[in-house]
Amino acid sequence: MSVASAPAAPPPRELTIALVGNPNTGKSTLFNALSGMNARVGNFPGCTVEKKTGRFQLGGKAATLVDLPGTYSLSPRSADEMVSVEVLLGRVADLPRPDVVICIVDASNLERNLYLFSQLLDLGLPVVLCLNMADVAERRGVKFDPAALSQRLGVPVVTTSAHKRAGVQELEQAILRAAESPVRRGSIFPEPFTREVQLLGEWFAKHKLTVPEYLVERTLLDIGGESEHRFIEQAPLELPAYLAGARERLAQAGCRVPAVETRIRYGWIRQQLEGVYERPDDSQRETATDRIDRVLTGKVTGLTIFAGLMLTVFVTLFILAEPLMGAIEGLQGWLGGLVESVMSPGTLRSLIVDGLIAGVGSVVVFVPQIALLFLFIALMEDCGYMARAAFLMDKLMTKIGLSGKSFLPLMSSFACAIPGVMATRVIENRRDRMVTMLIAPLMSCSARLPVYILLIAAFVPPVRLGGWLPAQGFTLFAMYLVGIVVAVPVAWILKKTFFPGETPPFVMELPEYKWPSPWLVLARVWDRVKAFLGEAGTLIFCTSVIVWALGYFPENHTAQLALQSQLAVLEEVPEEQQDTAKIEEVQGELNAESGRLIEASYLGRMGHAIEPLVRPVGWDWKIGMGVISSFPAREVIIGTLGTIYSLGGEVDEEDEGLRTALQEATWQGTERKVFNLPVALSLMVFFALCAQCAATLMVIRRETNSWRWPIFTFVYMTALAYAGAFVTYRVAGMFFATVT
Ligand code: GDP
Repeated sequence: MSVASAPAAPPPRELTIALVGNPNTGKSTLFNALSGMNARVGNFPGCTVEKKTGRFQLGGKAATLVDLPGTYSLSPRSADEMVSVEVLLGRVADLPRPDVVICIVDASNLERNLYLFSQLLDLGLPVVLCLNMADVAERRGVKFDPAALSQRLGVPVVTTSAHKRAGVQELEQAILRAAESPVRRGSIFPEPFTREVQLLGEWFAKHKLTVPEYLVERTLLDIGGESEHRFIEQAPLELPAYLAGARERLAQAGCRVPAVETRIRYGWIRQQLEGVYERPDDSQRETATDRIDRVLTGKVTGLTIFAGLMLTVFVTLFILAEPLMGAIEGLQGWLGGLVESVMSPGTLRSLIVDGLIAGVGSVVVFVPQIALLFLFIALMEDCGYMARAAFLMDKLMTKIGLSGKSFLPLMSSFACAIPGVMATRVIENRRDRMVTMLIAPLMSCSARLPVYILLIAAFVPPVRLGGWLPAQGFTLFAMYLVGIVVAVPVAWILKKTFFPGETPPFVMELPEYKWPSPWLVLARVWDRVKAFLGEAGTLIFCTSVIVWALGYFPENHTAQLALQSQLAVLEEVPEEQQDTAKIEEVQGELNAESGRLIEASYLGRMGHAIEPLVRPVGWDWKIGMGVISSFPAREVIIGTLGTIYSLGGEVDEEDEGLRTALQEATWQGTERKVFNLPVALSLMVFFALCAQCAATLMVIRRETNSWRWPIFTFVYMTALAYAGAFVTYRVAGMFFATVT
């Protein structure tokens, strides 16, 4: 006989909690305070919006915290802005509808912050109101009564100072309480409006569309907004006419959209705050922040300090990262050497040393610059300076249709576009962010420098133009200028074509100055490094292995291996007994064989194949092949040229042998020199404008969550580079053909 067992209690369900707030309210700080360093960063499906989730223990159960992008309202105007609403409505794959929403607000500026809160209540989710920056509010003499406010609003209200983790425990308790007691506030809109919402909801239902009430409300309110766009795509053709009619009826009933929303919501906010929240009139009082601001945002002092700071950032990226990158490369060389000492030469060894180890190295080598740049960004953001820097640069950057916040990412791109592209996340405006990201690789990064140095030293005569201007230095400067000069019209065109719309006026609030918190700063740096190493790192690694294979196959490497072994035997003898003449001879043969192998490899064949294409810009197939090999990373061209000219792949830009080899190179079967000044200039301009950096493209893919933009960047920059090289070659040919 079997006994029916009592039904098992359902397993405790995991809570999903969403974090929503205006920018600069301390959202990331609170996120870290709640979930520690366990954040996972990715993108929401199909868009550029970053998805950051963290896991933490809440009341003995695991809970998931989802960070939503900072926003002033939930009135989506673009697909990206729609993501937050869809998360809150539970319409995003792999993410359950949140059980509780934490709405974080700046306690010292409640009126404006409650606008978002008021929209959140319309979503019908349990909300906890978190009055953050309580310490600032207190210092400013703001008086408020959280208990009374909670009573009025019908939701738990908690005060926190997230940077000190004060109030975080109370917040956790409040989340648990809110999860148990769903709230539903009646609509705050007047009757004519609610009636239209109901009618539109019925209209959707009649046309077999299930639309949540909040989106019905948004469709009516946001003229030309994202909800309207979406439903116009899905609904029958009559929707626009229906909406126009409904809006007309609303206007006649005194509820003209969209103005009705601001009027009603701010009215409601004033009512709620009446008598429970009071801000002193401090417009007369001068705070420490005001005094610092007088210096830091002053026309002369502000710009001088800004310039000094930027110079420090730049020099640090350039110079401080260098030894770290050198150390990584050293480690890579050491590991390669180790493998070479224990494995006999062959395909597998080459794959491990030149493919895998070099591949990992090509990823890790970017970490110092990324970490350093984000260290600066985090420090500048956290102490409150970032907003001032953006403010200072805004005038200049709006001239090319960007905002002040684009300055830092662009400037950093002179060191390396990878941290530069990643730094565009400081730009809230999506269109500005995209344009900045797409022009960042035009800034001349440090990987172009070796190419400039090699070619300038070899082909630009060390004369003084007009008796005073050093021609070599001037050429280098001009190469840096090319990218900037081209970036301006490119930004302008991108703004006009792909990303049209007004640049919103500068509305950022200037936060109070404070000491940065080391914990928060490090968390941010770690976040970014992790985000880079993930997807982008894997893709960069794969590209680097593919390029290795293209340069290695399909040739037979037996002769090369024999020479390598012979060389190894010769070098094994103690140094004083070595037969240097013989070593040199074998090394020479090995270099020649390596040159032959690379010419016969897939890469070399590609170089030959594109020769007709590169003729018009003055190059032979060897340069063509060098350029192809440098698409994954520009600096590779130096090693490739070294190999093609039988000097071995270990040469650098200062190598005399390589310089001479280039100067003496002739077109195959003729006496005509390959390189002259116009060719060198055309090659440099090509490098200045071309997107020869797989890592940058992969980071753009990571940041935009789409292949479309890296492909676009690659195509437009390559086309520009080719056109630039062509014009340079022709124009320079008219002036300098006889000089060299
Ligand atoms: P987000 O833009 O909303 O993610 O804001 P952040 O978390 O980046 O915070 C903005 C700045 O405010 C940072 O410098 C934080 O250290 C600081 N901050 C966060 N919470 C508090 C707080 O409760 N009090 C004070 N004084 N500063 C805070």
